[in-house]
Amino acid sequence: MATFRKRALDEAASHQPCRFYADERPVSEYFGQNVLDLTKMRGYMSQQAFEAVEKCVMQGAKLDRSVADEIADGMKKWAIEMGATHYTHLFQPLTDSTAEKHESFVCMEGGDVFEKFKGTALVQQEPDASSFPNGGLRNTFEARGYSAWDPSSPVFIMDGTLCIPSVFVSYTGEALDTKVPHLKSLSVLSEAATAVAQLFDEKVKSVKVNLGIEQEYFLVDEALYNARPDLMLSGRTVIGHTSAKDQQLEDHYFGAIPSRVSCFMKDFETEAYKLGIMLQTRHNEVAPNQFECAPMFCDATKAIDQNMMLMIVMQKVAQKHHLKVIFHEKPFDGVNGSGKHCNWSVVTDTGVKLLSPGTTPMNNLQFLSFYAAVLKAVHKHHYLLMASVASLSNSYRLGGGEAPPAVMSVFSGSTLYGIFKSIMEMGDAEVSSHSLESIKIVNSLPEIFPDNTDRNRTSPFAFTGNRFEFRAVGSSQNVASAAYVLNTIVAESLMEFKAEVDALEAAGEDRSSAVMTTVRNFVTAAKDIMFEGNGYSREWQDEAKARGLRAIENVTEAFEVYHEQQTLDLFGRMGVLAPNEVEARFEVLNETYVKKLQIEARIIGDMCLNHVIPAAVKYQNVLIENIKGLKDIFGSDYMQYCSSEIETLKKISTYINNVSADVESLVEARKKANRIESISVRAKAYSRDVKDMMDKVRVSADNLEMLIDDQLWPLPKYRELLFF
Ligand code: ADP
Ligand code: MG
Repeated sequence: MATFRKRALDEAASHQPCRFYADERPVSEYFGQNVLDLTKMRGYMSQQAFEAVEKCVMQGAKLDRSVADEIADGMKKWAIEMGATHYTHLFQPLTDSTAEKHESFVCMEGGDVFEKFKGTALVQQEPDASSFPNGGLRNTFEARGYSAWDPSSPVFIMDGTLCIPSVFVSYTGEALDTKVPHLKSLSVLSEAATAVAQLFDEKVKSVKVNLGIEQEYFLVDEALYNARPDLMLSGRTVIGHTSAKDQQLEDHYFGAIPSRVSCFMKDFETEAYKLGIMLQTRHNEVAPNQFECAPMFCDATKAIDQNMMLMIVMQKVAQKHHLKVIFHEKPFDGVNGSGKHCNWSVVTDTGVKLLSPGTTPMNNLQFLSFYAAVLKAVHKHHYLLMASVASLSNSYRLGGGEAPPAVMSVFSGSTLYGIFKSIMEMGDAEVSSHSLESIKIVNSLPEIFPDNTDRNRTSPFAFTGNRFEFRAVGSSQNVASAAYVLNTIVAESLMEFKAEVDALEAAGEDRSSAVMTTVRNFVTAAKDIMFEGNGYSREWQDEAKARGLRAIENVTEAFEVYHEQQTLDLFGRMGVLAPNEVEARFEVLNETYVKKLQIEARIIGDMCLNHVIPAAVKYQNVLIENIKGLKDIFGSDYMQYCSSEIETLKKISTYINNVSADVESLVEARKKANRIESISVRAKAYSRDVKDMMDKVRVSADNLEMLIDDQLWPLPKYRELLFF
């Protein structure tokens, strides 16, 4: 067998299940031990400093710099006790990953060596970090970038470094990360939602978003991964014939977790628990070697930060197990891809879950109000919301007949859908709070929805009893980009809701009927976004089009939504992103798309020229030798004995020619696209011409894989990657 592949397979076979991070104590005893939460902080600083931090965390107040030194000192004390030697601001640039630059606590002054951590270093850092994508925001003479502590997320220790969750902004104050717009969206949503919640209870002071982020991923043995240049460099296989068996039998989904994987899961869970990440579920997903884990939902900022940390922890722990975690949305053709379902809900500071129907008609009316506002937001901005998850890697998954479809819709379940239908059908008189019909509707809301029995997995945005589940987010993405869009559009909708109720009340309607009328108007305006059927079906694609819902056919076209006036107005009015910040994101999305596709195109070219064709030529020679031998033995009759070899030889020769000609055309297509000045036009050329050529190359390469002697094939095959 080709030595490279053989060595990889042998090595993979030698990897045994093993625990490396086992902790004998009950989880409750070490949960959060590497996190400095408020309770622990109390012991490391004066009452005054603690109160300042508490105000920052609980009320989003600005930190008073006069106590910053003391807070920093307290953090340092704790960190050193925990064995840390360094600290870093940890921020989330526009790369879908995190960034860190470690600084040592230790310093020397006048010959003295000691540990130091000043308030200024805690509050603000200047990591320079000039190489991050910034979409032109830092091309001015002043190119500095600053990171600043975000006290709403606790500091923690990882690998001996005190990590300080931070925002990342330019010298002139523009957001260079995903956290800033997310934090702003939370605050505008809180304001808008509080105003609506106060219609029902004046005591409500703020509303927060909860997120539960499910993480899907693939595991591949490290040795096999290292033998696949495409997986190593792009996170997905750019060639590879499908395995005869993959997920058809649905025997992997929820199956028994293999021992080696189970050891890995327990190990990363242990590490995650220490970081205060409350992981709750683990299971096998649909595709072979695909898995999922989900933490208990929590405050949105924390949930996102923890998801980013979890991805790092999983990758680090996997190393010990000789595994690689693949977060790419579509690492393997022909089997399901991976997503990151985002469970989103809103809750008041008084503890009322605004997306759970309550026990009283007034509570139910409140539930209907929030639900209607979400419906209208998602309807109005359905394309923007879908575009918020658009990326090259997610494009291999979107609309591919698996979760999620490329067009947005909301699934409510039969109970709720029925209620909305009756509301829409109600006449003006019936809407009045005193009418029997409206009381009946409000009273008919069940306190608990028949959640799991009533589930529609084909919907990109489904109501699941007390929350919405946004299923289109890709497994490798930073959830913040989708979350701030969702928060912002819902905030806008809630403001409109409140304005409409106010106007009706001013015109003399009583509160309940004003709310009911508004709910009806909102639901009616948004009715086209509601869909209860199969989101993957051809009929739905046609129906959605007829309803005026825009599907994402090409992600580079979808990026254009950031140029639409409606989008700029939305972000500007809500104070989430200024037009130049939106433009920067547009630039970064296009740039990233082009760079990633360029890398994939190079990889497929290299793999074909350096792996596929040489192997094919070797086998060609074997066949030629064989045919020659048969001719020696059988003389002029030889043809009847080797017709199949000759057929195979012809096919192989044709595919070799095709592969090399197509690789050349691919290089040409790339060069041509690269000459296009405008990054968005270049991205579109890549998405058509370069992608098309890659598909063509792949067809011939995969056909060769099927024809060539398995012993000669140099790359681990799908069956090996998926069933190591
Ligand atoms: P499924 O795969 O069936 O959707 P999981 O158990 O994998 O369910 O994940 C459900 C996620 O939804 C968990 O992270 C859970 O904490 C979260 N969740 C549950 N209730 C809420 C809620 N009210 N708001 C936000 N997230 C929630
Ligand atoms: Mg799930």
